[in-house]
Amino acid sequence: MPNAFSRSRFLGSAATLAFAGLDSGQLFGQNSQPILLVNGRIHTMDAANRVVSQVLIENGRFAAVGDSVAARGARRIDLRGRTAIPGIIDAHNHIVLVGNRPGWHTPLEHVFTIADAIAELKTRSMTVPRGEFITTVGPLAAMQFAERRLPTLTELDAVDRPVYLQAAQGGTRTNSAGKAWLEAKGVTVGADGAISGPALGLARQTLRKGLLTPESRKRSALGALQYYAGLGITTHRDCGAFHSEELAGGVASENTYTMHNPFLALHRDGTMPARLRIDFLHQDPPTANPPLATLGPRLRNAFPFFGDEWIKTGGIGEFTGGGVEGLRAIARAGWRAEDHALNLTMVTNLVKDRETVNAEIPISGLRWIISHIPDFPVDLANRMNAMGMGVLVGWGPLRTGTNVGPPYRMLMTHPIKKGYHSDGGDITVINPWLNFYTIVTGRNLAGQPILGDQTLTRQEVLWLATAANKWFIEEDDLGSIEVGNRADLAVLDRDVFSVPDEDLKRTRSLLTLAGGRPVHDALNG
Ligand SMILES: [Zn+2]
Repeated sequence: MPNAFSRSRFLGSAATLAFAGLDSGQLFGQNSQPILLVNGRIHTMDAANRVVSQVLIENGRFAAVGDSVAARGARRIDLRGRTAIPGIIDAHNHIVLVGNRPGWHTPLEHVFTIADAIAELKTRSMTVPRGEFITTVGPLAAMQFAERRLPTLTELDAVDRPVYLQAAQGGTRTNSAGKAWLEAKGVTVGADGAISGPALGLARQTLRKGLLTPESRKRSALGALQYYAGLGITTHRDCGAFHSEELAGGVASENTYTMHNPFLALHRDGTMPARLRIDFLHQDPPTANPPLATLGPRLRNAFPFFGDEWIKTGGIGEFTGGGVEGLRAIARAGWRAEDHALNLTMVTNLVKDRETVNAEIPISGLRWIISHIPDFPVDLANRMNAMGMGVLVGWGPLRTGTNVGPPYRMLMTHPIKKGYHSDGGDITVINPWLNFYTIVTGRNLAGQPILGDQTLTRQEVLWLATAANKWFIEEDDLGSIEVGNRADLAVLDRDVFSVPDEDLKRTRSLLTLAGGRPVHDALNG
């Protein structure tokens, strides 16, 4: 895990500190001390793609950007030639699901061998009370490991705690202690620790019922945001979950009316290590009577783009629900809408439905989105662009097959708005560097070519994940290092513009700033 940050290192805004009843005077004083970063290779992602050596940060924003910045009284940080980029924006993922996982959720997206995974879990066990579950549920894949499999029960027995690993690809595995706990509660576990079939849903539900508390959720939410801050992400746009009133067995299921509570609790404490943007997922059946049972009240009773710089609501997605009638209601209310497309038929129908609505209620100013788009011909790009829509792409490192898309190269030469998303948290990984590796090399995490000739340069993929995503979060002052923008930035542990392809996957942040505050700091530690 990245360094835990102390309160002195982690400085909330005056407003959140006041709300939390902290001594904002002292902390605010520190917060206002300017920081001057010098001797870096700072990729600004501004319109001219400038690379500068210095930036000055004052009051949470970039105050000067260049090669000879004058700053009196600033705290100087020498980057010693290191590469820095704007804080990464993941414009569609499921971080809120990750923040609600049962047990001591332990992200493993930065390890690439079974031995390293076991070592990480053993380290984790030292901070987990005896007998309590260490879990990794969702953003994990067998194909990220050199062995192309999950650890076995015997290997996991080296960890002196019950362990439960559920991967987006490669199955589910527990160790002897976990097996005993689950079996005592009626869950069938294989002799090798594998859990599959109907037992899998029961296992997840049993873990949720047995382990989740408001405190554990808050711990997981903080841990998740910290972990990804350590990989350079400073803004997450969460795209929801499948609603379940009760604790459910589905990996993508949560109570969508309460699942944001742990994040709101962190916000009240002034300890958000990254920004959260919240979209609301709805699934009203198109034929239901009455129609739009959940979407209608949402549009009448909630506020889009309401909140502050740390947590803000957005639009409806990644399912809008209610068919064309749902889209009409969203357009009439003036909200943003997003649906995902898993194949050509789906995206073709989605575009057609939007054309129907757009003919009645113009949507061109609402920035409607379709995400994933594995198969996406230029004709559909033209038609979406004509409606002022955008597409989110990424979603790749675990996929298999040849030319599975999306057509990154075509999109880069097309005027349509495009941005980067991982879609990680339940069915794939969030680690942006695993995703960037795939987009740059065209290979999945098992090293198989999957993108044909539709790869991008490193500059292009980093632009998609930073400046290009301004449009998708509808905030112009994030995503690039320019005077006046919020000071979100990651100093990386390697030069991602020149390292060999395989090293790209292993990229970490040494220093991540969000609003000028160090939210991850391994530079001096
Ligand atoms: Zn998604």
